[in-house]
Amino acid sequence: MASESPSHSPDDFNRLHVFWHEGMLKHDAGGGVFDTGMDPGFLDVLERHPENADRIRNMVSILKRGPIAPFVSWHQGRSALISELLPFHKQEYIDELIEADKSGGKMLCAGTFLNPGSWEAALLATGTTLSAMKYILDGHGKLSYALVRPPGHHAQPSRADGYCFLNNAGVAIHSALDSGIRRVAVIDIDVHYGNGTAEGFYHSDKVLTTSIHMNHGSWGPSHPQKGSVDELGEGEGFGYNLNVPLPNGTGDKGYVRAMNELILPTIRSFDPEIIVLVVGQDSSAFDPNGRQCVTMEGYREMGRAVREAAEWHCEGRILMVQEGGYHPTYSAYCLHALLEGVLRLSGMLLLSDPVAYYPEDESVALSVVDYIKIYQKEFVPFRR
Ligand SMILES: [Zn+2]
Repeated sequence: MASESPSHSPDDFNRLHVFWHEGMLKHDAGGGVFDTGMDPGFLDVLERHPENADRIRNMVSILKRGPIAPFVSWHQGRSALISELLPFHKQEYIDELIEADKSGGKMLCAGTFLNPGSWEAALLATGTTLSAMKYILDGHGKLSYALVRPPGHHAQPSRADGYCFLNNAGVAIHSALDSGIRRVAVIDIDVHYGNGTAEGFYHSDKVLTTSIHMNHGSWGPSHPQKGSVDELGEGEGFGYNLNVPLPNGTGDKGYVRAMNELILPTIRSFDPEIIVLVVGQDSSAFDPNGRQCVTMEGYREMGRAVREAAEWHCEGRILMVQEGGYHPTYSAYCLHALLEGVLRLSGMLLLSDPVAYYPEDESVALSVVDYIKIYQKEFVPFRR
């Protein structure tokens, strides 16, 4: 059905259901030089790990105190059961995590520390995402957002990676498929490749995984995937994993062009019953972990575009799942802007950008988008 005119009032059709549990703040990934956990020996001040509780505290507070607050309903999250993890994760991997927790903690891979309190937080993040998905599946709402940490999109069926232990979105997608949903589309706009989610559904044509990310390539044994255009899925899943690696410094125009000309036409062909928008604010101009220079306006535009697609294809159903975003101030502002777009707010309800000022040179990014379009037309059967 075509979208209605923009709604400016917090009615039931334009309400964001946020699922959250403060127990997730108990995960503490430690400190050192950035995300290494190491003390280099020459510095007075060691920094906190970038994936720390403050970034999420600010997201909670901007949703409670920002202009968006009247449009938000808050729901208590919950812990996942081990049995709920198993459609996505391998039992041996879950046993390894439980063992790591019992023994007082473990570095699972570079930058990824399971410390006391982390396992409890990880189970809360996955359970809370399951609740946010169930709310939509049960027909109680159309727009839900799992405000969770630790993040999940790098966690593969049997491997932790990139600050992630459990794939929150992946587990929730399995719950949707189990409930009878036939086609789920994932749009991942975190600055990093959503390799874990891609890996989990690499052989499936029921879940279309798309990811716009910085062209960072593989990063060691925990992240062998490259995130390149030729990682298209395998078997029945061939053509159902579509990667959009963009050059460093891409900015708003390149991201919005990639969304409008590569991602949304694919969603149109796939015709999903629900969209899972995997959200990372580490694509922003000030993120210590990303180089993509997206501003609040870029996030807002992408939010509007995804809502429009959801109205056309899946009766407006969008589950949003929080991933990265490591600048403690700007991540919260970019979240607000993305959700302004999703809720199609305007005027006084839009927050102004407190910091963005970078000039954009979009020529390289736009030519990359054109190149990927030609590549997909040639190699992806359902996009011909
Ligand atoms: Zn990320």
